[in-house]
Amino acid sequence: MDKYLSETITLIKTNLPTHSYLREVVFLDKIHEIKAYQVLDSRGNPTIKVVIKTKKHIGYAFVPSGASTGLYEAVELRDNKKAYNGKGVEKTVDIINKKINKQLKGIKVTEQEEVDLELKRLDATENKSKIGANTILGVSLAVSRAAAQAKDKELYEYLAELFKNKKKLMLPIPQANVLNGGEHAGNYLKFQEFLLIPTGAKSFAEAMRMVGETYHVLKKIIDDKFGINATNVGDEGGFAPPIRTPEEALELVSEAITKAGYKRKIRIGMDVAASSLYNENEYDIGVSFSAKGLTSYYDRLFSKYDIKSIEDPFEQDDNEAWQEFMNTVAKKRRVQVVGDDLTVSNPHRVRRAINNNLCNAIILKPNQIGTLTETLKAAEMAFDAGWEVIVSHRSGDTEDTYISDLAVGIGASQIKLGAPCRGERTSKYNRLIEIEANLKKKGYAGKKVKF
Ligand code: PEP
Ligand code: MG
Repeated sequence: MDKYLSETITLIKTNLPTHSYLREVVFLDKIHEIKAYQVLDSRGNPTIKVVIKTKKHIGYAFVPSGASTGLYEAVELRDNKKAYNGKGVEKTVDIINKKINKQLKGIKVTEQEEVDLELKRLDATENKSKIGANTILGVSLAVSRAAAQAKDKELYEYLAELFKNKKKLMLPIPQANVLNGGEHAGNYLKFQEFLLIPTGAKSFAEAMRMVGETYHVLKKIIDDKFGINATNVGDEGGFAPPIRTPEEALELVSEAITKAGYKRKIRIGMDVAASSLYNENEYDIGVSFSAKGLTSYYDRLFSKYDIKSIEDPFEQDDNEAWQEFMNTVAKKRRVQVVGDDLTVSNPHRVRRAINNNLCNAIILKPNQIGTLTETLKAAEMAFDAGWEVIVSHRSGDTEDTYISDLAVGIGASQIKLGAPCRGERTSKYNRLIEIEANLKKKGYAGKKVKF
């Protein structure tokens, strides 16, 4: 029997009053229609936008896409046909508009776990490869936006409720990727990201000012050294000058921080994305290093530059190297060691990393795992272990600001969003500025982090 009908009959049997009351109780917060669209991401590749309607509310979400994806990430479904060089997502759109629309109709948008379980059941693979993690995520996130509306809450307030975050809401410290290399840029720099981390700000708005000013000082330095062509930007809005070594990158970033007047107020982060540099026990960073050699190299960099956070310093399965690094260099230098490809926002991978003491922070990217419920579970595990959580964009992203609300809702101390440049990055920064301005009791995570 149709779900609406059976619930309506139940209500009538219990003698509850009037037709309008029934409409209120039975229909209004239930999924009425799900519709997907093939749209474009920031690299000009197809992705999906999902819109979910109840009779009264509407929720939407876009799905981002990575370039340096981890081996253990949930899998995107692509058409592999002529259109868009195989990257089309018409299959995804079709699955959502037909199968998922039919299956989820009638479920309350506030029943996030039920929705996510249903989506996982429809896929029934370990890595969501049958109907695609992109398919699943678009629906999962759009449902939560509709639920926030149904509860008359801001998305971050609803996510805080869902996550049972009872603490005073705070704004995360941005990690702003101002120099792009690796798979994100057309230069010879092997390390993927050099990040500004403004721990010394008093508010998110001040943090953005510090980042914005330093970004423009950096542009001037690069222009003076390499000429105007070198100030073009990479996938995440950071500059991609013709440099080759991490030292050259760190010199540029350090000089920009000092010249902008933010020495020690902006610390430096790096995402090595080492899985993309690894081949048969060797790391190719321009010269070849064993894991041991790379560990000593990091130690030298930490002694010379104000680096306080390092992401994916080793390959995703090189457990021994991660462990050794944690027990020696990271401990001595008190740096934040961040798992991304290592942990892929997957509760099982996070548990494994906790049990083996592989890192002390995780990157949280909802599209690595595919459902909101599992994303929140991974965050909860990390928090319970006393780790930092860094909510993150993808290198291929969209105008969607969902992750800004996610970071505030769960109380993440940091958020990684690229440079303060390009609309898909600034939309998220701007949403955080707006959230901060509207929060009555605000906090900024600057003092909270241990470095
Ligand atoms: C990252 O590696 O942290 C990142 C944002 O890049 P991508 O989205 O390409 O995985
Ligand atoms: Mg990374």
